[in-house]
Amino acid sequence: MNVLNKKSVEDIDVRGKKVLIRCDFNVKMENGVITSDKRIVASLPTIKYLLDNGAKVIACSHLGRPKGEFKPEFSLAPVAVRLGELLGIEVKMAKDVIGESAQTLAADLKEGEVLLLENVRFHKEETKNDPEFSKALASLAEIYVNDAFGSAHRAHCSTTGVADYLPAVGGYLIRKELEYIGGALENPQRPLVAILGGAKVSDKIGVITNLMEKVDTLIVGGGMAYTFFAAKGYSVGTSICEEDKIDMAREMMAAAEAKGVKFLIPVDNRLGKEYAEDTDVMVVDSDAIPDDWMGLDIGPKTEALFADAIKGAGTVIWNGPMGVSEWKNFASGTIAVATAIAESGSISIVGGGDSAAAVQKLGFADKMSHISTGGGASLEFLEGKDLPGVVALNDK
Ligand code: ADP
Ligand code: MG
Repeated sequence: MNVLNKKSVEDIDVRGKKVLIRCDFNVKMENGVITSDKRIVASLPTIKYLLDNGAKVIACSHLGRPKGEFKPEFSLAPVAVRLGELLGIEVKMAKDVIGESAQTLAADLKEGEVLLLENVRFHKEETKNDPEFSKALASLAEIYVNDAFGSAHRAHCSTTGVADYLPAVGGYLIRKELEYIGGALENPQRPLVAILGGAKVSDKIGVITNLMEKVDTLIVGGGMAYTFFAAKGYSVGTSICEEDKIDMAREMMAAAEAKGVKFLIPVDNRLGKEYAEDTDVMVVDSDAIPDDWMGLDIGPKTEALFADAIKGAGTVIWNGPMGVSEWKNFASGTIAVATAIAESGSISIVGGGDSAAAVQKLGFADKMSHISTGGGASLEFLEGKDLPGVVALNDK
């Protein structure tokens, strides 16, 4: 799967045409108010390109999990308002997805205008990739553009099914995501350093296995490190540890050694007495964790060790916080790694939903080369999987 072999909006004449664009408008909302519009902002380059080139733009997306029926709290109406503000034009909002409102508004749409359809997941057919629903969606337009990187790992009607009925091309966001992440995986500036963290090894086995084949250095921190500790025979106290993954952790360390991949795990840790924000904290070496304490962050010696490994990197791929970075007492390791990446001058790519949120919250967003907008999609891509939403696009 190579996005560069796929047609993009620039490879097709959109003037005067109705263009159905699948965006990722799955924004964070609280009580009907959008709390982060970053995904709407990320869709602007493609929508603006289409408008500048005389297309009639029909946008669609899912929002949350309404489970196949109309639920007002999952309406995309607030997104239409925000998108309109960002574009500086009125965005028309359909009352449905493929019903009378959508059909009438789509038929009346003029060049340079934007219509937003309701949440595609108001229809249970959407997530089943039902051909009839795909056909109905496709019938609203003449061209299909997929720019929803965050949903590209799903084979749903609006992400893949419609491509069976319309010329299908990719937008700029999909292209940017795949160029950065794909470039780091396939043709990285070396050394390539991967930093993995987060809660569970079991979530990241595919990522570790795929990256093992490509990286020069693999750094493991966060909750998942304790399964590796157990594999080395250290006591982990009450730290998060997956018993059934200990053998696999041992095999991964052996594989790294056999391949000559430098494999780093924490040498010390910030422990908490319990899993709580204001719990007592102490720092101990990795082979000295007491029975009734839990590892909630990497320690200062590890911060220095990891920073040193990151310093000379050409490319860094980072997924997973080094500790419970949501809590001030256990954010130090994640901040240290972010600082080291920022100072390394490497090409830096952050994938994963919580990792992207942590980098943003801790103030490093503008220090990274690329922060993926797609949590699950970026992980599947790092696992080496093809993304159905990209595969479905027309080849050049
Ligand atoms: P991403 O969404 O970026 O892939 P994950 O979901 O794998 O990241 O991991 C993020 C979560 O891991 C955070 O909620 C964080 O609190 C948790 N975490 C990190 N380190 C630890 C730890 N030592 N113990 C328990 N949870 C941890
Ligand atoms: Mg997560």
